[in-house]
Amino acid sequence: MTTQRLRGFGATIFAEMTQLAARHEAVNLGQGFPDWDGPPGMLQAACDAIRAGINQYPPGRGFSGLREAICEDRRRRYGIVHDPETEAVVTTGATEAISAAMLGLVEPGSEVILVEPYYDAYAAAVALAGARRVSVSLVPEGNGKGFRLDLDPLRAAVTTRTAMIVINSPHNPTGTVFTADELLGVVTLAAERDLLVLADEVYERLVFDAAHVPLASLPGAQGRVVTVSSAAKTFNVTGWKVGWALAAPPLADAVLAAKQFLTFASGAPFQVAVEHALRHEQAWVEALREALRGKRDRIATALVEAGLDPFECEGTYFVCARAGASAEEFCRDLPARRGVAAIPVTAFTDRPGPWHDVVRFAFCKTDPVLDEGISRLASAPLVESLGPGGRVS
Ligand code: PMP
Ligand code: GLN
Repeated sequence: MTTQRLRGFGATIFAEMTQLAARHEAVNLGQGFPDWDGPPGMLQAACDAIRAGINQYPPGRGFSGLREAICEDRRRRYGIVHDPETEAVVTTGATEAISAAMLGLVEPGSEVILVEPYYDAYAAAVALAGARRVSVSLVPEGNGKGFRLDLDPLRAAVTTRTAMIVINSPHNPTGTVFTADELLGVVTLAAERDLLVLADEVYERLVFDAAHVPLASLPGAQGRVVTVSSAAKTFNVTGWKVGWALAAPPLADAVLAAKQFLTFASGAPFQVAVEHALRHEQAWVEALREALRGKRDRIATALVEAGLDPFECEGTYFVCARAGASAEEFCRDLPARRGVAAIPVTAFTDRPGPWHDVVRFAFCKTDPVLDEGISRLASAPLVESLGPGGRVS
């Protein structure tokens, strides 16, 4: 019964692996959600807002207090100035911001370029908009390092039908943080070819080794970038679904045009609480990042001990590793075999070839849970030992 444009999508890999994890009582290092709460002051603010009767529709653009807090936060951290009245739209998570941007800004029949492996919602949003996705692959740097964005294939993928490029940095699933040069290359290309760029920066605060460069801060970005972010990853509230889009007024209007008919508005008391968090819980976010840095280091070590070959993770709460075997089979077997769940990166690709053995582990778990997962993974080698570059030696 499902329409043709959605037929290929089925259940998300996250739902599938979380179900498998539950069936085997596995430590769920698959779906990326933290298993501890955000700042207590923010939780209290949500409870207070509910008790104070903030339970009806907020304005379609979101409460002005939250929009002001979002714009102030961005100005303070990056020096980027947005008008909260005309350039900010609060959405039902970053997910809605992404779909609304595609529906409001991409004509049916045009093309959207994704960088693979890509977050699964992009492909579905492109399909909902009746557009065609074109993917270009990240390139592994080799020697245990991470991935880079090669601008030549990106440039080659642009056609006269291209409407938008989607860039996600820090990048899910690889943990790559794109450099200013890489991002400038994208913006320059977009300016030359008059393209829009959707900058998905939901992991902007979870950067461990380098600084996050907002794509909209680069020369040439003016008027062509929709930046998407969310409270989910910054404040450990993936279930609240408070996200936002920031863009020049005509672009923000287009996002709103679609958003108003997707949900109109949502999460009134949570919007109030996220405003509180943006204004008062910055120290909590810094502590979260430091805690995640330690977790990243520990899981990377455990993966090596388990005989896997991890890639460098510079941000997000995901680390990828070569399993030396089919990632899909590995992830389907792992919950029963070791009591741990993970995600095959092939689920985020159109051309799975180079990614066939790459597995993603989420490390956003409390220390006892992560330690249990680590000890299950490292209890015995999972694969024959891997040489540099992930080849079985
Ligand atoms: N973009 C990326 C890259 C993600 O990993 C996620 C999942 N958290 C989202 C967007 C969706 O965010 P939200 O939960 O705020 O809808
Ligand atoms: N963003 C999370 C991840 O990448 C999960 C999102 C979801 O379950 N849809 O794991």
